[in-house]
Amino acid sequence: MADVPAECNIKVLCRFRPLNQSEIVRGDQFLPKFQGDDSVVVGGRSYSFDRVFPTNTTQEQVYNTCAKQIVKDVLSGYNGTIFAYGQTSSGKTHTMEGKLHDPHQMGIIPRIAEDIFNHIFAMDENLEFHIKVSYFEIYMDKIRDLLDVTKTNLSVHEDKNRVPFVKGCTERFVSSPDEVMDVIDEGKSNRHVAVTNMNEHSSRSHSIFLINIKQEHVETEQKLCGKLYLVDLAGSEKVSKTGAAGAVLDEAKNINKSLSALGNVISALAEGTKTHVPYRDSKMTRILQDSLGGNCRTTMFICCSPSSYNDAETKSTLMFGQRAKTIRNSASINLELTAEQWKRKFEKEKEKNKTLKETIQKLETELNRWRNGENVPETERTTSEVVTRIESVEERPILDNDTSSIVVRISEEERQKYEEEIRKLYKQLDDKDDEINLQCQLVEKLKQQMLDQDELLASSKGDGDKVQAELGRLQVESDCAKAEVKEVLQALEELAINYDQKSQEVEEKGLQNQLLADQLSQKMASLMELEAELSRMQEFSTIVGNGEIKLPVEISGAIEEEFTVARLYISKIKSEVKSMVKRCRQLENMQLECHRKMEETGRELSSCQLLISQHEAKIRSLTEYMQSVEQKKRLLEESHDSLSEELAKLQDQDNSLLEEKEGEKGETEDGNVKSSWLKPASLKKCCTFVFFISRRPIVSRGSLTVASITSSWPVLRDEINEKQRIIDELTDRNSKLELELAQVRADFERLKSQDSTKSERLEELSFLHERHEQTKQDLKGPGGDCRE
Ligand code: ADP
Ligand code: MG
Repeated sequence: MADVPAECNIKVLCRFRPLNQSEIVRGDQFLPKFQGDDSVVVGGRSYSFDRVFPTNTTQEQVYNTCAKQIVKDVLSGYNGTIFAYGQTSSGKTHTMEGKLHDPHQMGIIPRIAEDIFNHIFAMDENLEFHIKVSYFEIYMDKIRDLLDVTKTNLSVHEDKNRVPFVKGCTERFVSSPDEVMDVIDEGKSNRHVAVTNMNEHSSRSHSIFLINIKQEHVETEQKLCGKLYLVDLAGSEKVSKTGAAGAVLDEAKNINKSLSALGNVISALAEGTKTHVPYRDSKMTRILQDSLGGNCRTTMFICCSPSSYNDAETKSTLMFGQRAKTIRNSASINLELTAEQWKRKFEKEKEKNKTLKETIQKLETELNRWRNGENVPETERTTSEVVTRIESVEERPILDNDTSSIVVRISEEERQKYEEEIRKLYKQLDDKDDEINLQCQLVEKLKQQMLDQDELLASSKGDGDKVQAELGRLQVESDCAKAEVKEVLQALEELAINYDQKSQEVEEKGLQNQLLADQLSQKMASLMELEAELSRMQEFSTIVGNGEIKLPVEISGAIEEEFTVARLYISKIKSEVKSMVKRCRQLENMQLECHRKMEETGRELSSCQLLISQHEAKIRSLTEYMQSVEQKKRLLEESHDSLSEELAKLQDQDNSLLEEKEGEKGETEDGNVKSSWLKPASLKKCCTFVFFISRRPIVSRGSLTVASITSSWPVLRDEINEKQRIIDELTDRNSKLELELAQVRADFERLKSQDSTKSERLEELSFLHERHEQTKQDLKGPGGDCRE
């Protein structure tokens, strides 16, 4: 509900920035000549505004002079809007935002944030406030939520009072200036993240900060609300000057279109005679419908460059400001009446209705009298005063969706029919906007999913490569181990052969020993015989000595000598035989030891073989796993390819849709459209609807594939982890095997050294044997002589 509207003009303020460094260096001329507080002369022509700010005006002065009042208005229940218009780099952002956290250089928005709360703290304690803020930008006629990056194409709807608003836009409740600043910082950082070249982007997009204040008196329950739009418009320069081409040129044209829509709305309102105000030509003008000629207190900052280089742009900006100055708004307090107030208002309206009905009655009677040819005397005629009263009751601001003023010759029934149809069409438009928004969000989501999948794929590819490298390394290691085991086996075989040879030799030696022992026993026997003979001989000699047989002294001396030699030999042989027997025993022990060692080595060999076979089995399973991982990788790559294809298709369809849209727009603009309500935009959006219906199954199919991949991924990752664990185990086992191998090698070395010592001993023994043989021969020699 609103109170009686108060007509007021849009306030237009002109601000000139100082010459910048490059302009000074270039030697540009300083154009403006300031005349008083409200006039400026540029190129010999004087332009007047509500206020003109010369270059040295501080941010604080600008705020105190113009923006401060708006805060009070909004807190009193009025709607407010502050625009900044001007070419790029003329100081729009400097005026609206400035340096956000610098107390001297901060612009209007941060100062308003501070001021609102200062006012609230000074107000009646019985008032309860709810303050919400939204932050969005309009780029290429798409509304992007700066507080939620997923909302890239929001639509404009109308509330029950037919006031347009951005549907679905994020609203943040704030309770302190710091919270407002946090929201601005968040929005600005989101804006930075989304674009590559911020300067270029900000000069081509409109950014809108909305503060929504609702207040309620806790006792009277009186409710007031006020909206404050703070708009930093896109650069108003002509496209040709920016040197844009191709897609950038298209973009610039599109942006200029929304600015030209603003120009058209302002022209239509400024002329005042036009019945149709084209608010619906762009989203920006639609959102700001109330700010331009509606229920709002609007201030427009015209930002200008003082440089002679920007002469033309400055003049067109000043002209724009002059036109805007003539627009009249009818602002009223947005008051929600209490039950009591409603009742009073109803009574008043009822009274008014009664008088109006009476007047109509009177007029009808007078008309009938006129129709019947009667000349109604002047005193009985209805006076112009009454008509004026009726007109003032009927008087309403001319709005875009107000069709009453053009219905002059059509019947009431037709008018209602058309209005109904228009309402339906607008509803359809809103629905289509919603649908486009939904589809855009879906596309964005799918894009994000695609990116995620790409990342996953890349990381799994990396994992796969790593696993492959690891497997390669393991394979090389196992090959090395195999070769080593082969070598060890060969060495063991050699050792076994060697051992066989040695044991054969030992056997031979044993046999030889046996033989020697036999010979020895024979010798012993012969020795015994010899001893017996000797004793006999001694007996004989005793007999001879006793005189029975007398041997010559020389002969008996020789015999004695020979006996001594023989005795010596015998004792020597005895000792030799003893040592031989000892050696034989030692050799037998050694043989036993060797057998034992052989058995041990054999056992180790078989365990080694077992380990080798285990190792080989592991390698086989790893290779199989490798193959399965390869297969999975291939599957993932295929699904990635198909997803990319689908995305490309979607994008193609998107592009074709855009082309279709533009084509149709072009066609519609070329043709002569007779009906004022069936707009090209509605046709275009109907086509879009058809397109989206046909596109739906593709989208859902795409999302299914993505979902299935996403669901299979954790299983895959688990498997990879499991395999990684197996690989680790295998690596451990491999190192254990290596250790065992080293041990086996050491054993082998030990056995080898034992073998060599045994060979040495054998040589020694053979040498002893030979000596023994020699001794035997020697013994035989004198023995034979003896016998002889
Ligand atoms: P726009 O938003 O119109 O593209 P900016 O506000 O970014 O332009 O201003 C461009 C440059 O000029 C900035 O570096 C800004 O600090 C400077 N500037 C603009 N207006 C003024 C001013 N009134 N006083 C000092 N510097 C200014
Ligand atoms: Mg800017």
